[in-house]
Amino acid sequence: MYLEVDEDLCTDCGLCEERAPENLEMKPDSGGARVIKQPIGESERANCTEAMDYCPSGGLKAATPKAEESAA
Ligand code: SF4
Repeated sequence: MYLEVDEDLCTDCGLCEERAPENLEMKPDSGGARVIKQPIGESERANCTEAMDYCPSGGLKAATPKAEESAA
């Protein structure tokens, strides 16, 4: 899981920070959420999955890392 916040979709509601405070925080001055640490381990991944489920706007996503680009 690689978390990303889409700033265009985030409505600054704060639900994701409540669900996964070790991985997400709200930027100051109503700037929306940001990822402070990618989830490590089962507990953090479960919290972040829950945070994505709670996100009302679809602004919190699990992206695919770009690591495969250089695999050839
Ligand atoms: S739950 Fe979604 S809309 Fe709310 S602050 Fe987090 S990313 Fe933004």
